[in-house]
Amino acid sequence: MPDSMPQLTLHDSSSRSTVPFAPLDPGNVRVYYCGPTVYDLAHIGNLRAMITADILVRLLRHLYPRVTYVRNITDVDDKINARARANGEPIDALTARTIRDFHDDLAAVGVLPPDVEPRATHHVAEMIALIERLIASGHAYEAQGHVLFAVAHFPDYGALSGRSPDDLLAGARVEVAPYKRDAGDFVLWKPSEPDLPGWESPWGRGRPGWHIECSAMSHRYLGESFDIHGGGSDLLFPHHENERAQSQCCFPHSRFANHWVHNAMLLVNGEKMSKSLGNFLTIRDVLSDTPAEALRLLLLHAQYRSVLNFTRAGLDEAKQTLNRFYRAIGDLPADSTDPVPDEVLAAMCDDLNTPRALAEMHGLADRALAGDRAAAAGLRAAGRLLGLLGQSADTWFRAGAGVDEAEIESLIAERLAARKSRDFARADAIRTDLAARGILLEDSATGTIWRRA
Ligand SMILES: [Zn+2]
Repeated sequence: MPDSMPQLTLHDSSSRSTVPFAPLDPGNVRVYYCGPTVYDLAHIGNLRAMITADILVRLLRHLYPRVTYVRNITDVDDKINARARANGEPIDALTARTIRDFHDDLAAVGVLPPDVEPRATHHVAEMIALIERLIASGHAYEAQGHVLFAVAHFPDYGALSGRSPDDLLAGARVEVAPYKRDAGDFVLWKPSEPDLPGWESPWGRGRPGWHIECSAMSHRYLGESFDIHGGGSDLLFPHHENERAQSQCCFPHSRFANHWVHNAMLLVNGEKMSKSLGNFLTIRDVLSDTPAEALRLLLLHAQYRSVLNFTRAGLDEAKQTLNRFYRAIGDLPADSTDPVPDEVLAAMCDDLNTPRALAEMHGLADRALAGDRAAAAGLRAAGRLLGLLGQSADTWFRAGAGVDEAEIESLIAERLAARKSRDFARADAIRTDLAARGILLEDSATGTIWRRA
């Protein structure tokens, strides 16, 4: 890293402090993120983790010559089996469709793909190899066709999350079972019913537990020790604690992940998102009437470690900000390669301080709107670092309204017809409706034109 580059500092969940980031190999920074369990559309809480990863990896790529970013796909899981059964659909069809939808949704909001996207079902042999090592070293045991990790045999268990094995009982995806030596022991392998996915193993036909897949895939693609492991704070315990226990018991002199990054949760209208509260939003729900870039910007309003409250007002604010930024950029070409302004880079290097970076961008927009072309170029470059402002201003103002151009033209035609038949109430309703969506109509002698408010 050149001397002129600011030092990246990142909060590390393991040490519970914000520390300078120092890669194990500055020539290849290695990052692992837990990806989706593919049985349903991704929701905006999932998206927050994926966007946090995206801005982190974009920043690392800016600072270092090479980054290897691995994000797995969990395509074997009890929830997948249950959903496929409920849908009356083959498991492969469900997972293939969900993966396609996931990729489409992330691409829409400008999340770049990982370098490697391993699927759990393609790495069962690697998982079996790790489980065999754990049994051989006395960290795991077989019981009634299951293989369990013995938490009591790893004295450091709980050090990552600061929690105790007893807390496992309250954790997700853990069942109390008679074959466990300790209630906190977790499943590495379990028997599979004939009609469910299964693989031959030294312990009979079965399927892996959830945690072991990330230990196997991170090891395969990033080695025994790598730089950053990330995910939503809901994964810290037990999932990441268990991954770390497995990996450090397999490779006793490794660090597994050197640095742990966890993003805080997302609320919707101040409440935890849940289907029962009726505030559950998939990415698609939001994109049905909102420009994707506004959703992306909204998720950057809060620094990743702060709880983010998703509201319609927040989305509107994001749209207004983008209107302002695109006005400031004007006709500057989208593919410019101007340097990222120091103050924006410094904000991002301060533990991904996106609110501060956006405040700096507003400052650049002020100067750009006053005619400063260099500030406009800086704003465009800052946008590139954050995955924003990637389209031309013209495209944004034409399409960014979240309404389809063809739909606007057809509503204008319908309004004209309504006026001709003297249905002024209908004509006015169309005008009011479009105005509410940010589209203003202007009638002239030659016809009606529209523009973005
Ligand atoms: Zn994982």
